[in-house]
Amino acid sequence: MKTAPVLDVQPLRAGLSGQTLIPGDDGYEEARQIWNALIDKRPAVIARCLTTADVVRAVGFAREHRLPLAVRGGGHNIAGSALAEGGLVIDLSSMKRVTVDAGARRAMVEPGALLADVDAATQAHGLAVPVGINSTTGIAGLTLGGGFGWLSRTYGMTVDSLESAEVVTAAGEVVHADARRHADLFWALRGGGGNFGVVTRFEFRLHPVGPNLLSGLIVYDARDARRVLEGYRAFMATAPEELSVWGVLRQAPPLPFLPAEVHGRPMLALALLYAGEPAAGERLVAPLRELAVPLGSHVGVQPYVSWQQAFDPLLARGARNYWKSHNFTDLEDGLFDAALAALDRLPSPQCEIFLAALGGATRRPAPDATAYAHRDTQFIMNVHARWEDPKDDARCIAWARWFFQASARFASGSVYVNFLTEDETDRVGAAYGPNQRRLAEIKRTYDPANLFHTNQNIQPG
Ligand SMILES: Cc1cc2nc3c(=O)[nH]c(=O)nc-3n(C[C@H](O)[C@H](O)[C@H](O)COP(=O)(O)OP(=O)(O)OC[C@H]3O[C@@H](n4cnc5c(N)ncnc54)[C@H](O)[C@@H]3O)c2cc1C
Repeated sequence: MKTAPVLDVQPLRAGLSGQTLIPGDDGYEEARQIWNALIDKRPAVIARCLTTADVVRAVGFAREHRLPLAVRGGGHNIAGSALAEGGLVIDLSSMKRVTVDAGARRAMVEPGALLADVDAATQAHGLAVPVGINSTTGIAGLTLGGGFGWLSRTYGMTVDSLESAEVVTAAGEVVHADARRHADLFWALRGGGGNFGVVTRFEFRLHPVGPNLLSGLIVYDARDARRVLEGYRAFMATAPEELSVWGVLRQAPPLPFLPAEVHGRPMLALALLYAGEPAAGERLVAPLRELAVPLGSHVGVQPYVSWQQAFDPLLARGARNYWKSHNFTDLEDGLFDAALAALDRLPSPQCEIFLAALGGATRRPAPDATAYAHRDTQFIMNVHARWEDPKDDARCIAWARWFFQASARFASGSVYVNFLTEDETDRVGAAYGPNQRRLAEIKRTYDPANLFHTNQNIQPG
């Protein structure tokens, strides 16, 4: 078993209002678990911060002791960047308050909040910010990488709704970044990941949403998948921005609306949300039901927060996960061929290929308007290998890598930073794209010694 180096954490413990955990402490083992069970890192110390002042102390302690420093929001990052082997983890999971000013359509969000916390607080007022599709994801990491979900075609990337942020810098200063103050930092936070400091508060602009919206799934047999994918491509080419339809290729899970005999069979599901009037949405999605005879479908009006949690059971924490991802500006026939071949060879019942539709409002800002650069992206594909038994590691990882290679020539070459795995340091340039140089300059201003480096790292330029 690996052992963490001995470290005198007493000064940190004494100065922190939150808990400080080291190996052997009650709660340490639980505190080092993250969403992806493939990651097994043993930090020297975990600082559970409760306040911005705690974060300042923890950043100072890491700097003084030259400890590798990681920041944990929701702990969902596939690469395990929420943890630092032998280092200090600033664990923000206890700072999860969300305060909504409904009149001003603003939310103040602490960095340990999960998407479920943000959705619940904002939807209480019929408002929302576009976030991801798994409600146990952390708002912090998701936002810092760009952030997209069912509402993004209507209201843009998550960063497009970010109004300001409070940040603890590498020097331990607390700064307020927005379009006027520390504007360079504010630009970098909107897609540059956790490279520039610890965000201790996000301020989001909110949009009127629901609270009840048309959403759900239409499930087709794999035999019809080719025809449905072609129809889906044509459908999305003219779909209004309020409508999001994503494709999922996998084995059919035991969903109650599917006949028992199809459970476990390869399938293609179209998952959709319409952000406008439900009746208009019904009319709009009707052609999707005609693409082939569905195995089953479950589309109806339900609370937006329920749809936000619909995929949670399939994406629960604790399984082993390995991802590969591409961005696409269009969907070529060859991609469909490769995807169907991958569907034929799924190495576990939980492996899946997710095709998320972007476009719409996400395309409007210029590529250099925010650090998130990939405004031309129409679809993001996530090849999601997921399994339980360590014996299946090699087989499942090999499947993801194989399909990733097979589909590469149809992709745009860019990649969503939040979908990069630990072994993809060679793709960091593709993730920051044309904005990497400016990000490196801003990194030099705010973190010249690269204290924040256990992430998709930007070297000080
Ligand atoms: C099941 C699942 C579904 C997903 N679905 C989507 C989706 O629909 N849309 C989407 O956009 N993304 C999605 N993601 C990706 C998600 O955006 C990233 O995993 C993101 O990094 C998660 O943020 P976190 O706070 O939970 O992660 P963490 O692992 O806690 O942190 C991720 C990174 O952000 C840094 N960080 C965290 N908090 C802070 C902070 N306060 N200040 C500075 N740096 C910080 C960390 O150092 C780390 O490098 C999904 C992920 C999973 C596992």
